[in-house]
Amino acid sequence: MAKAQDESPATSRSPRRKTTGTGKSGSAGAARARKANAARPLVGGVGISSPDRIIDVDSGATKRRLAEFYLEVADWLLPHLRGRPLSIVRAPEGVGGETFFQRHMGRLKMPHVRQLDPSLDPKHARLLQIDEVTGILEAAQMGTVEFHTWNARSDRIDRPDRIVFDLDPDPSLPWSRMVEATCMTLDLLADFGLQARLKTSGGRGMHVIVPLTRRQDWECASGFARRITERLATEAPERIAAKMGAQNRVGKIFVDYLRNQRGASTVAAYSVRARPGLPVSVPIGREELSGLGAANRWTVDNLMQRLREQGDPWPADEPGQCITWAMRDRLRKGG
Ligand code: ATP
Ligand code: MN
Repeated sequence: MAKAQDESPATSRSPRRKTTGTGKSGSAGAARARKANAARPLVGGVGISSPDRIIDVDSGATKRRLAEFYLEVADWLLPHLRGRPLSIVRAPEGVGGETFFQRHMGRLKMPHVRQLDPSLDPKHARLLQIDEVTGILEAAQMGTVEFHTWNARSDRIDRPDRIVFDLDPDPSLPWSRMVEATCMTLDLLADFGLQARLKTSGGRGMHVIVPLTRRQDWECASGFARRITERLATEAPERIAAKMGAQNRVGKIFVDYLRNQRGASTVAAYSVRARPGLPVSVPIGREELSGLGAANRWTVDNLMQRLREQGDPWPADEPGQCITWAMRDRLRKGG
């Protein structure tokens, strides 16, 4: 897991110390800065430093390539970012290097990334939000690879608008077991009258997402997610684990419902992952599941072709659903 931090480390990438004294060294500094800027190709209007630095050895992708991918995919990604508090995972040294999980601006320079009202997260620095493509590219310029979002929108932060079930397999299991667990989750939700959407995590597993109306609070949404997960584990104890920890999921799929608490985040649909091959988290239809073979099937290199050919199976603005009292009552009673 990425190291959590609010500020980028002081490295050679920090702005150089101001030179005082003779005008000579000042103008030399300015000339250096001009030269550095001239060497920065613009991607979506944002200058990309060290554009040719390889950030993923597996694919050979450069920092510039990642920025260009984000420019291409922005129309698909933005609906999943807009209006939501955001966390970013930066990997300044690329995949395999140290990563930084950040919820705040710290010292980063990203003028088109919004800083939200401090009241949304009292006693902490202001939360971030990206509403426009330039913000995505500025984040990429700052070494961001992954974009994670909250389950609520910042205009009504106390009312989550979705539940996320994160299905994590014991790594030794074949993909067919992930398909099975995903279908069991979808079927149980359907039995409660809830339609869910699917996306690959871009890593090992699947994310099952239930869009909600904003009537229920965090406690209701997270309690419901926990009870659904416990029901799954009760119905198929040999296949599904509801308890965290590698020892609890030996030979099983762990369904993680803990991402439904206030402040938790999950990688956004169409975000790249900071993993070998630069895979992407991708919305899919249920009928595609079994043919996938793996959750890291789409990458920076092949995703755009899928989008051009098939479009997006998941309208980002679809209506939410209610968790009713009757559903909660039935779950509680084990019916
Ligand atoms: P996989 O399929 O491999 O499980 P995933 O996206 O489901 O992929 P992770 O990449 O392990 O799982 O995500 C971990 C979760 O924890 C994400 O929801 C992310 O927002 C959060 N997270 C990651 N790093 C940190 C951190 N340093 N501090 C707090 N939360 C973090
Ligand atoms: Mn997961």
